[in-house]
Amino acid sequence: MTGMFEGPRYLAAFGPKRVPHCFTDVLVLGGGVAGLRAALAVDPRLSVTVVTKDDLLTSSSQWAQGGIASVVDPEDRFDNHVADTLAAGGGLCHNEVVESVVHEAPQRIAELIAWGTKFDERDGALALGREGGHSHHRIVHALGDATGREVMRAIIERVRGQENLSLWPGTFSVDLLTHEGRCRGALVWHRGHGKTLVWARRTILATGGAGQIYRESTNPEGAVGDGMALAWRAGCELRDMEFMQFHPTVLYIAGGSRSLITEAVRGAGAWLVDREGRRFMPDFDPRAELAPRDIVSRAISVVMARTHHSNVYLDLSHLDPAEVVVRFPGMAQICAKFGLDLARDRIPVRPGAHYMVGGATIDDVGRTTLPGLYAAGEVTSSGLHGANRLASNSLLEGLVYGARAGASASEEILGGEPDDFRVPPLSNPRVSDAYGPLDVEDIRNSLRSLMWRHVGVERNGQTLGEAVETVEGWCRYVLPRQFADPAGWQLQNMLEVARLMIRAAAVRCETRGVHVRRDHPTSLDHWRQHIAWQRGRAEPWMEPLPSGGVVRA
Ligand SMILES: Cc1cc2nc3c(=O)[nH]c(=O)nc-3n(C[C@H](O)[C@H](O)[C@H](O)COP(=O)(O)OP(=O)(O)OC[C@H]3O[C@@H](n4cnc5c(N)ncnc54)[C@H](O)[C@@H]3O)c2cc1C
Repeated sequence: MTGMFEGPRYLAAFGPKRVPHCFTDVLVLGGGVAGLRAALAVDPRLSVTVVTKDDLLTSSSQWAQGGIASVVDPEDRFDNHVADTLAAGGGLCHNEVVESVVHEAPQRIAELIAWGTKFDERDGALALGREGGHSHHRIVHALGDATGREVMRAIIERVRGQENLSLWPGTFSVDLLTHEGRCRGALVWHRGHGKTLVWARRTILATGGAGQIYRESTNPEGAVGDGMALAWRAGCELRDMEFMQFHPTVLYIAGGSRSLITEAVRGAGAWLVDREGRRFMPDFDPRAELAPRDIVSRAISVVMARTHHSNVYLDLSHLDPAEVVVRFPGMAQICAKFGLDLARDRIPVRPGAHYMVGGATIDDVGRTTLPGLYAAGEVTSSGLHGANRLASNSLLEGLVYGARAGASASEEILGGEPDDFRVPPLSNPRVSDAYGPLDVEDIRNSLRSLMWRHVGVERNGQTLGEAVETVEGWCRYVLPRQFADPAGWQLQNMLEVARLMIRAAAVRCETRGVHVRRDHPTSLDHWRQHIAWQRGRAEPWMEPLPSGGVVRA
């Protein structure tokens, strides 16, 4: 395979004498559930700055539909939630991480309620949904199918009331600042103010996922893997980059939005049918429509190929129409925009890139391998999801690790030696663009199509090899360039992350969790390890699980 072309350490030029400086105790990059929960956990004696590239209402967290998994029903047990998470995770979860996150879930839900989140109720108790891979009803939800909107409303309201906290919306994090092997803050850019060097005692990366690297995706436009690329360039270890989870049911109407149709619809009894109206999931798995996402996505791909049709359909026509509209008002509205009645019509769906399982390796309190840098949420690899995330475990992960990261960063700052807050002698006088104009949009579209074709629900060694060659070719002339705004920087980040995903997928010669190799269709025991990588190392390495690969489920 072609060697990796190493681009410059920083995407943009800056010189400490030419760029304004700002100082904060804790810098949080990202304003989704993980970033804001982290900011709220910072000790009020410390200053916090939260930087988001869009406004606070644009994030995957805002778009979350189904809900948050937590054991709250007295009939349910922590052990059940743990077992379901491990079973979905395909042998790569860290048992102790799963145990601790599952046990912390009720506390995080109670806290959201105390902060004013109005979860849906039935007969005076929390209404609990059920989703694929869950053995019990344990999904706490709000506004029917708009959980993220309600949870974020309550969190944002609380954030706005914190005096120690500054919000910087519309501000793009270009790169992490490192000096003598330590993260010292970030270089950020704002359309009105240009570049600023933000120096921080601790930085928390919470920039979310990378679904938009694929042509078909459920994610907001900004989910292009910026944080993973920032962490990579700064020398952080990244792990499990081959595991992109595809959501099986994304609304597929040419020219329409690629809206996700929540798993809870199948939990409520919806069927998946082919173009002839034949229900097919029972042929693939005894759990039928409630099998874990990877199994459902794969089954849909097989049926689409078998029926030579661009999609399959969700069928709710056998359910009570009044219930359907009450439980899924948002979805019903979106379908209605395209002349479809969610309760009666067959709804065209197919898989789309949904959740990035891999990311920056973190420990139990969210520390990355780079001193001074924490991370939380979808940008990380915590060990919770293994090779496949169980539905509705990700908002939970963001809440748990956000809270831990904010608290631990505070303890380190308040309990440790006073940090040297002087500006280090950093400078990065990059040469200007020597290559002439470039059609950024064209490469972006080509990359997204390539990822969908060659690194999608099913992969194989030959096409992964071709994808590496193509993306390396693009990297050679795109990465050294100097862009002046986020469109170019995002493309550079997408390329950086895409090639790590493709190379990891090529290395893992087996099928596990969401990573399906047509040429290696089974899971192999010696592959029950992570694939980890760090800039400067020519090759990735195999990283054993902390428990030695012993899986309890
Ligand atoms: C349609 C949809 C439905 C989902 N439903 C559920 C569900 O029901 N239950 C569940 O558990 N999970 C669900 N998920 C997944 C879940 O929403 C995400 O995994 C989770 O919200 C990620 O939170 P986060 O805080 O890590 O990132 P996000 O919420 O994506 O936030 C990322 C933040 O980082 C900022 N950012 C990114 N790059 C930069 C940059 N370069 N500079 C500055 N800021 C930057 C963004 O502006 C944003 O503020 C769903 C996801 C989608 C897309």
